[in-house]
This record gives sequence, C-alpha cells and structure tokens, in this order.
Amino acid sequence: FGGITKEPPMHIVHIAVEMAPVAKVGGLGDVVTSLSRAVKDLNHNVDIILPKYDCLDFNEVKDLQYRRTISWSGFEIKVWFGKVEGLSVYFLEPQNRFFSEGRVYGCNNDGERFGFFCHAALEFLLQSGFRPDIIHCHDWSSAPVSWLFKDHYRQYGLSNTRVIFTIHNLEFGANLIAKAMQYSDRATTVSQTYAKEVSGNPAIAPHLHKFHGIINGIDPDIWDPSDDKFIPMSYTPDNVVEGKRAAKEALQRKLGLEVGEIPLVGVITRLTHQKGIHLIKHAIWRTLESNGQVVLLGSAPDPRIQNEFVGLANQLQSSHSGHAHLCLSYDEPLSHLIYAGADFILVPSIFEPCGLTQLTAMRYGSIPVVRRTGGLYDTVFDIDDDKERAHAQGLEPNGFSFGGADAAEVDHALNRAISSWRDNREWLNSLCKNVMEQDWSWNRPALEYIELYHAARK
Ligand code: ADP
Repeated sequence: FGGITKEPPMHIVHIAVEMAPVAKVGGLGDVVTSLSRAVKDLNHNVDIILPKYDCLDFNEVKDLQYRRTISWSGFEIKVWFGKVEGLSVYFLEPQNRFFSEGRVYGCNNDGERFGFFCHAALEFLLQSGFRPDIIHCHDWSSAPVSWLFKDHYRQYGLSNTRVIFTIHNLEFGANLIAKAMQYSDRATTVSQTYAKEVSGNPAIAPHLHKFHGIINGIDPDIWDPSDDKFIPMSYTPDNVVEGKRAAKEALQRKLGLEVGEIPLVGVITRLTHQKGIHLIKHAIWRTLESNGQVVLLGSAPDPRIQNEFVGLANQLQSSHSGHAHLCLSYDEPLSHLIYAGADFILVPSIFEPCGLTQLTAMRYGSIPVVRRTGGLYDTVFDIDDDKERAHAQGLEPNGFSFGGADAAEVDHALNRAISSWRDNREWLNSLCKNVMEQDWSWNRPALEYIELYHAARK
C-alpha cells in the first residue's frame, strides 16, 4: 500500500439506509459508520446520505440543522445536516413521509421507499454541486444508485465519479444486486471466503473481474473495553480476567442468573434461518447439560420465530431459571455487557458474509465458537485444527470452530470450549488476553478500500 499516502484526498459519499448507532439494524449499519471513520482518519473526505427516519436515535446526532429543500418527482425533500460519531451526515426527509413509518425495514413498499431515496440522494448531490470521486452504495437497498447514476446523472458534470457497490448479504434482493453488479465500477463483498462462496451465483459470476472480498473491521473506539460506559469495570489485556469477572457478575445480577464462577456462553444475533436457529437451540441445551450458563440476546423479524423463542424463554425460565436467560429484543447496552461478561460467544451461522459479533467478542476477550463459513472462516482459527492457517496470516489460533450444520458438530466445538474453561483455566485466560490483542479493526481493510477507490478512478 506504499504509494497511497502521496495521493490527494478523495471525496467519498456513502448512500446507505442504515448507520450505527442512529439507524442500525445489523452489520450494514456498523460497517457504514466504522468504514467511514477509518477512511476519514486516513485524511479523505467522507459524507453519508441517510433517510431521515422518524425513528432515528436523535440523541446520537450532534448539531442537527435544516439545510435546504430540494424537489424531485413532484415531492419536496428537506435536507438536514448533522454529525454522527464525528461523521458528516445528510438526512433526507421527503414530504411523502416514506420514512415516517417507525422503522427502517418491514413496510410492504420497502423497494419503492428505498428506490425513491436513492434517486433523491443523487438529486441532492447534483443540486448541491457535489462532485464526489466515489459514490459507495450498499446491498439491495441502495443498489439502484448504481444504474440511476449511470443513466441519469453522470452526464451532468459527474463524469469523474465512480460507483462502488458492496454486498453485505446476497440473500436479499438478488435482482437489484445483479443489476448493481453490472452497473457499478467495482464491487466488493465483506470477506474473501464469502466472495468465493458466491462466485458461482448468476448475479456475481459474470462480474468476477471487478469483484473483491475485503473483510470488515470493527471500530476500536466504539467497541472498547477500556472505555465503555455499559460495563462495570474498564479493562485491557493486562487485567482482562478481573474485568471480565466484574462484567460477568454484573450480567448475572442484571438477568437474575446465579452469581458465581460458571462458564457463560453468549449469543447476540438476529434470529433468522441464516444464523443457525436449530444450532443455537441445541447449544442452549448442551450448555445447560454441562452446567454452564447461557445468555441470548436476539430478535426475530419473523413473528413465528419470535413466538417460538418466547416459548423457549418461558420453558427455560421454569426449568433452568438461574442458568439461562433469553432477551428477545434489540438492546445495544446489554450487548456490550454480554460481549464483556461472556466467556464464549457462539456464532453457528449457516452462512455468514462477514459477521461482526465474533470480532467484537475477541475485542472484549471472549472466545468465539463459530461455524466455519464465510467471514467466520476468515477470522476464527481453531485452537486444535487451524494452527497452520492462522500462522500463514501471522496470527495465533483464537477460537473453536466446526464445519457441519448438525448437533454433533456444535457439541464437539462447545464441549472443547467448556472443558477448557473447567480443566485449563490458566491457558484459557491467556487465550482471552491474546485474542484481545489481535487487530480486527479497519486498519488494514480501510487501506484495501482506498486502494480499490483509486483503482476505480484509473
Ligand atoms: P447481521 O448484519 O447479519 O445481523 P453481523 O454479525 O454482521 O450480522 O452484525 C450484527 C450486529 O448487530 C452486531 O453489531 C451485533 O452486536 C448487533 N446485534 C444483533 N442482534 C442484536 C440485538 N438483539 N441487540 C443488540 N445488538 C444486536
């Protein structure tokens, strides 16, 4: 990456429908914020355009101010400006009230809402005289930016602007993704293994020449056990044992679990098929059988799945009240306490483009137990089986993993994890310290994005 620093700063505009922490549903929201911060720290100019949802967390927006009104397609669109995590964000509020539904996704006209937003965002860039070097759009929801830009905007003085498209999850909106793959100048997805796994997909296969896997990072300031208002004691690798003990105790008390030295498995996830629901359920019972504790924080967009878990939560409440707690909601502060207080974070996904929870777990000294797929394969190296692969990356093994999607496979990984807690605690404590010291930030991936932005402009 030697030559990059000599190049003049670029102007990058993200057009996205999620952004942590103001409008976060999943990893996409984290990535928009943390990638932007990392690229900005490397002295580039970054702006973000986001819908002005009525459900934005306005507490996290600094100095929100009205800027101007633009019009498009017979509607007026108010443009607001504010700072989120130090980033400049333009919020679009169309008069048609498309973003006054109390939620980000889940309206029956989501396609229309976000299509409108993409068009409005480009219209805003044009009417404001912005000439970005790069427009970066994400997933099906801002995929239309790529063709709307090429068909309707590029000719208006924006011929030097390049469009980058990132797939965070190919599962949703395949037709829109296929079209964006075609129209964008470069496309990425969020890990090398996921890039390989989807390379045969008809949406991707014709475009491999411009398709790259770049692993996501996490923002070390947003996820920082040495400075985290949601945990009882700040800690670093040097006092990880004491810090995690305090966090575990706080977590046990908060959730009404038995307080004490008991191995604790955490799960933080959307509850969807992708995340390996049957394996999660199995792991809950397996952990309880081995006298461990389980804390699950998750919510299901599908009401049937949500109800299933409500049933399970009730059942566990009576059968294992001191040892299991399921929180079936979205709760950012609680997620911090779980990352810090758990010994192990389980991520048994059926597929996983990158996965952020295993990275955040490691930042807090929790050991990931994951299924070997997508970005989980690229970031978690099994203690027993993956030494060589880890060393080839300049890393030490950092977790437990399994390959299949059946109960026996989960058992094998989970049993090794819990046995190490019972029989080999000193070794496990040193592993916690080691994983905390691994760098899963944007330090390296941000450079790869910048290189890609440069390459797109050549
Ligand atoms: P995905 O984007 O598929 O949901 P990722 O692992 O990429 O999965 O990102 C999930 C993000 O959402 C992580 O930051 C995780 O901590 C957070 N998260 C998931 N479920 C919850 C929840 N119920 N409460 C709080 N945070 C959650």
